[in-house]
Amino acid sequence: PSAQVTVQVEGKSVTFPTQLYINGEWVNGHGTPLKSFNPATEELITAVHTADENDIELAVQAAREAFETTWSLNVAGAERGRLLYKFADIIEANLDTVVALEAADGGKPLQWARGDLMASLAAIRYYAGMADKIQGFTCEVGDPSKSVTVRKEPIGVVAQIVPWNFPVMMWAWKIAPALAAGCSIIFKPAENTPLAALYLTKLMEQVGWPKGAFNLLNGTGKVVGEPLALHMDIDKIAFTGSTAVGRHISACAAKSNLKRVTLELGGKSPNIVFPSANLQEAAKWAAFGLFETSGQSCIVGSRILVHEDIYENFVSDFVKVVEKIRVGKDPKAFYGSLISKVQFDKVLNYIEIGKKESKLETGGARHGDKGYFVQPTVFSNVNMTHQIAREEIFGPVASIIKFKDEKEAISIANDTTYGLAAAVHTLDASQMARVTRRLRAGTVWVNQYSVLHPNVPFGGVRQSGVGRELGPNGIENYLETKVKADD
Ligand code: NAD
Repeated sequence: PSAQVTVQVEGKSVTFPTQLYINGEWVNGHGTPLKSFNPATEELITAVHTADENDIELAVQAAREAFETTWSLNVAGAERGRLLYKFADIIEANLDTVVALEAADGGKPLQWARGDLMASLAAIRYYAGMADKIQGFTCEVGDPSKSVTVRKEPIGVVAQIVPWNFPVMMWAWKIAPALAAGCSIIFKPAENTPLAALYLTKLMEQVGWPKGAFNLLNGTGKVVGEPLALHMDIDKIAFTGSTAVGRHISACAAKSNLKRVTLELGGKSPNIVFPSANLQEAAKWAAFGLFETSGQSCIVGSRILVHEDIYENFVSDFVKVVEKIRVGKDPKAFYGSLISKVQFDKVLNYIEIGKKESKLETGGARHGDKGYFVQPTVFSNVNMTHQIAREEIFGPVASIIKFKDEKEAISIANDTTYGLAAAVHTLDASQMARVTRRLRAGTVWVNQYSVLHPNVPFGGVRQSGVGRELGPNGIENYLETKVKADD
């Protein structure tokens, strides 16, 4: 690929580098180039450089050098925060361009890409404000003449690997706390969505970080991701993606240098509707919580559990809401295309399985004839023996499951290996308290769905992940505890 391209995306002309960013320089990659397509039009946008083994080595060396010399312990927290605030302002000044790139690369309607960008800015500013508020403590050790000080120090060189569903938000959630903590970074975007990170790195150059503090390597999981997970001089790996790859990364970390690992993985989240709920509201939240980003979000409430007394009414209300959902890329669309042909075929295959297992209420096919759009699809009469109720589909497919009482609702909700999110719709306060306590999930929403905030920790229990992003926990992931014990 050329070193830089100018592309037309969403009516905008955007110029950005396509190379690797190592030690403060744009350099050619020596791996096989990656092609980036717009999944809504199936057209090629551009090809980008990727790293080979030697490029990875150079990036790790640059990150190590920066960590030990110009960055990290040598730059005060307030300065690290100032740089992040400045970066957020620069991104904001170029917001429309980043939004256009993310929308084209990921097949999202512009308003949704804009939403991701606003959430990303909020996370960057949140951690900018935290950079000078990292605190240790002292310990009483039984002798008034002695003292023990506990410091929080940056972990070191971190590798960060993200998926394609929120290319900018996942990037912000990773880089902001790591830079606030003083870590140096090697960042790897998903192979389907490499563009926004390239443009954002170009913007980052205007901020003035020491060279090597941030390095960007595009490439596949196998060629770039795995060597990062196995590298002996990387101190931590932060990963968002599928449970299968997360498990593999954890194994790579264990068999190399026991680098620290945080994992944000998949889900099959339950959304429980009790008879006392406001059913119209519950139907709206259930639709919102499932069809956002075409169902390609780890937190989607893909299992909708409904009490038998209200089952028929709820299904009919829900289908009415779903049938109003607008699919496409126009400004009024609620969701866009799936990310790729692979994902499109996978989702359509699950829909065919669903048609055999349960009752199709609406949707069930491709939307339009160009781009990887799928109709919002609803299955009723689903139970937990069905494949569509057990596996993460990552598409706009709802499974509505009937339960007879609270105990059974909790048991069905927890009948999964995942534990990312859940929701309870009820106006009965004691039921709300009982059920939220028993659900095994990192987040339980009550009478709403998919509401996130930078100050609120996010992540999964069980096989949905290890550790939390956002909130104070998000920066803790990038800090080690050091004890200084005086004689
Ligand atoms: P994926 O696991 O296939 O890929 C994610 C990233 O891992 C990509 O950058 C990929 O290149 C890399 N990768 C792939 N194989 C690798 C390997 N062997 N070693 C190192 N890196 C490797 O996931 P995906 O299909 O891109 O994304 C969808 C998945 O991500 C879903 O399961 C979804 O639930 C999950 N997800 C979770 C969250 C969360 O916060 N919990 C958020 C978004 C997506």
